Amino acid sequence: MDNLLSLRALKAHTLRNKFNIIIGLIIIILLVTMLNVLASIKVMSGIRAYVGGEGLWSKAQKEAVTSLLTYTASRQESDYDKYLEFINVPMGDKQARLELDKPSPDDMVVRQGFIQGENNPADVDDLIFLYRNFRHVSYMSSAISVWTRGDEGIQSLLQTGDQIHLLVSSTAPGAAINSTQLATLRGDVHRIDNQLTSLENEFSATLGTGSRNISRFLLELTLFTTGILGALSLIIALLVGRAVIRLDAQKSEFVSMASHQLRTPLTAINWYTESLAEKATGPLNDRQKEYVKELTEGGQRMANLISDLLRVSSLDLGTYKPDIQSVDIGATLQAVLQDLHAQISKKSLVVTVNLAPDLPHINIDGLFLTAIFQNLLSNSVKYTPQGGKVDATIGLQRRHLDIHIADTGIGIPSAQQSQIFNQLFRADNAKQVDSNGTGLGLYIVKTMVRQLGGEVWFESLENQGTNFYVKLPVSTGTK
Ligand code: ADP
Repeated sequence: MDNLLSLRALKAHTLRNKFNIIIGLIIIILLVTMLNVLASIKVMSGIRAYVGGEGLWSKAQKEAVTSLLTYTASRQESDYDKYLEFINVPMGDKQARLELDKPSPDDMVVRQGFIQGENNPADVDDLIFLYRNFRHVSYMSSAISVWTRGDEGIQSLLQTGDQIHLLVSSTAPGAAINSTQLATLRGDVHRIDNQLTSLENEFSATLGTGSRNISRFLLELTLFTTGILGALSLIIALLVGRAVIRLDAQKSEFVSMASHQLRTPLTAINWYTESLAEKATGPLNDRQKEYVKELTEGGQRMANLISDLLRVSSLDLGTYKPDIQSVDIGATLQAVLQDLHAQISKKSLVVTVNLAPDLPHINIDGLFLTAIFQNLLSNSVKYTPQGGKVDATIGLQRRHLDIHIADTGIGIPSAQQSQIFNQLFRADNAKQVDSNGTGLGLYIVKTMVRQLGGEVWFESLENQGTNFYVKLPVSTGTK
C-alpha cells in the first residue's frame, strides 16, 4: 500500500514537473515571440525611415546641383543661397551619422542632424535604433558605407560650390567670367552629381534587398515560434486530458469501492431492523415502533443510494456492457409497475399502459430496459400527487422503440430543466415533495440510453406534469 502511494506521489510529482517545464517553455517562447514582433516592427519602420530619408537626401542634393548651375548663369546671390539651403539637408544627415559613430553619441546632436535632414521627427527614434543596433549587420553596414561615400561626394560638391562662388563673386558685375574655368567647374558639378546618383541608387537597392530578406527571416522566425507554441499547447492539452480521464476513473473506482464497503454493514442493519419490526425480539411499544419505522426508511434510502452509486460507477468505468437479448417489453413494464404497486395504490394514482398491438420481443439489454422503466416510472409515481395520472405508452417504429411516460405531477421548474440530467441534481420542488431521492436516476437513464445508441428528452410544466420520451434503436427478436 505504502509503495503504491509513493508510486502515485512520484507520478503526480513528475506530472507537475512536466507542466512546470512546459509552462516555463511557453512563457520563454511567448517572450521571444513578443520581443521578435516588437523588434520586427522597429526594424521595419527603421528601414522605411531610412528609405524615406534617402529620398529627401537625393531630392535636396539634386535641387542643390540645379541651384548651383543656375547660379553660374544668373550670378544671382539668391540662387547661391538656395544652393546652400539645399545642401544643408545632406549635411544634417551627415552630422547625425558622424555623431552616431562616436562611442557615446549625444542624442540631441543626432536628433538635430536628422531633423535638419528633413526627416520626420516621429521617425528619428527608429533611425537611431537601427543605426545603433544594426550598424555592423550586413545590409546596414553596406548602406552606411554607401552613405559615407555620398557624404564625401557632398564634400566635393561643397568645395566646387565654394570655388564657383569665389569665381562669380570676384568677377565685377557686367564683366565676363573666365569661361574655361567656369566650364571646368560646371563639369565637376555634373561629374559629382552623376557619382551621387549612382550612390543613391546603390543605397536604395541595398536597403530594399535588406528589408526583403529581414522581413522574410522575421516571418520565418514568427512561424517557427508559433509552431512551437502550438505544439506545446497540444502537449499540455494531452497531459491535462489524460490526467482528467485518470482522475475521473479513480473517482469512479473510489465510489464503487466505498459503496461495496458500505453495503455489507447496511445489509446487517436492515436485517436486524426487519427482525425488530417483525417482533422477533418481542412486542414493541409505540415509541419503539416509530423508531423502527424511521430506521427502516433510512436503511431503504441508503440501500437505494448505494445501488444507484454502484450503477453509476460501473457505467462510468464501462465495466457493465449491454448484454443484448430477446426481451418481452410488456412483461418488463408490468414487472416494474408491480414493484411500484404499493406506492401507486397508496396515492390512488390512475396508471394507464398503452402497448402497441402485436408488440414483438425485441433485442435489447433487459437490465438496462428495466432500469430505464424503473427510474422514469418511479419518478412519475413519486412526483405525482394523490389521485393523479401516470401513462406509459410503448410504440415500435421500423427500427426503434418509442417510450413515453407522462404524468400529471409537480413538473420541473423551467429554470432548472437544463440541469435535470446532471449527477446529484434535484429540483427545489422535488426536494419538498420527497426527501428520499438521490438525484442519480436520470443520470443513469441518460447514460444507459446513450450506451444503447438512443436519445432521451422531456417536456415539463410546473404544477401540470411531465412527459419523458426515450427513443431506442432496436431490432425485433423471436417471440
Ligand atoms: P431523484 O432521485 O431526485 O428522483 P432523478 O435523477 O431521478 O433523481 O431525477 C432528478 C430530478 O429530476 C428530480 O429530483 C426531480 O427534480 C426531477 N424529475 C425527474 N422526473 C420528474 C417527474 N416525473 N416529475 C417532476 N420532476 C421530475
